[in-house]
Amino acid sequence: MIVSKAKPIEAVLTMLQGVQKVGLVGCKSCASACAVGGEKECQAMQEALEAAGFEVVGTVLPDESCHKMLLRRELKPLVAAGAEALVSLACGSGCQTVADNVKIPVYPANDTLFVGQTERVGIFHEMCRTCGDCVLGETGGICPMTKCAKSLVNGPCGGQKNGKCEVDPTNDCAWILIYQRLEALGQLHKMEKTLEDHSPRSYPQSVNVREAKK
Ligand code: SF4
Ligand code: SF4
Repeated sequence: MIVSKAKPIEAVLTMLQGVQKVGLVGCKSCASACAVGGEKECQAMQEALEAAGFEVVGTVLPDESCHKMLLRRELKPLVAAGAEALVSLACGSGCQTVADNVKIPVYPANDTLFVGQTERVGIFHEMCRTCGDCVLGETGGICPMTKCAKSLVNGPCGGQKNGKCEVDPTNDCAWILIYQRLEALGQLHKMEKTLEDHSPRSYPQSVNVREAKK
């Protein structure tokens, strides 16, 4: 799940300065689950824009706003209706995919936060920083990159107090959790292994699953 939160409406209005006719693009996938890009949020955005004097020429709600070929078809009615700009109520990938398909400006209504776990409806936790070199097999299934405030992959900083992180005491120390989990699994020997530090990768990356299958 890609977790996003809505920008304040004032930020969207500022981006739309000089525009009259606006189209809205939601997303039935992650953005709907996060309550920032579903039918209800698109309707609320339409009402807010109309109250501010904009003309909303239409709304589309694709199954996935980050699917380029799918969007090509979905966006045509908005452009045909004379939209001068589009507002994307999806994540950053969805917003860029919309922009990839049209020649008019596209503005984000949301801020994209993290790859998360859904605890239950409306409650999400950051789980993965997409490091590209997963070490969960060595850390009892708990991500040190994400759960440790300093992203330490080779043990704790030593600052924890009563099991809580020294950076944000509302969070458990990731390395206490990892230790406890490895102990419960009978895998404490993994604490002795030195893992490679995760050096920054160059961006952007691409994956071609079709090529890999040949
Ligand atoms: S180690 Fe953590 S950040 Fe890296 S891929 Fe695995 S879960 Fe994601
Ligand atoms: S106290 Fe624990 S979770 Fe916090 S930064 Fe140090 S090792 Fe990481």
